Amino acid sequence: MTRAGGPTVSCPACGRRTVFGPGNPWRPFCSERCRTLDLGAWASEQYRIEADADPDPGEDGAPPPSA
Ligand SMILES: [Zn+2]
Repeated sequence: MTRAGGPTVSCPACGRRTVFGPGNPWRPFCSERCRTLDLGAWASEQYRIEADADPDPGEDGAPPPSA
């Protein structure tokens, strides 16, 4: 049985079949929750990459002031 509403896709977050159409504001996700989860995963991934990048110690560009 097919319900009108448009084509369905697998939610990238949970894999559930969800309608990919104007009726689904969270497309291609199945719900706001999955959309938020995915965005959160992205954010944490970016954060991890950023935190992983060690700041270059560099040369001693600030010598102690000599009296
Ligand atoms: Zn989902």
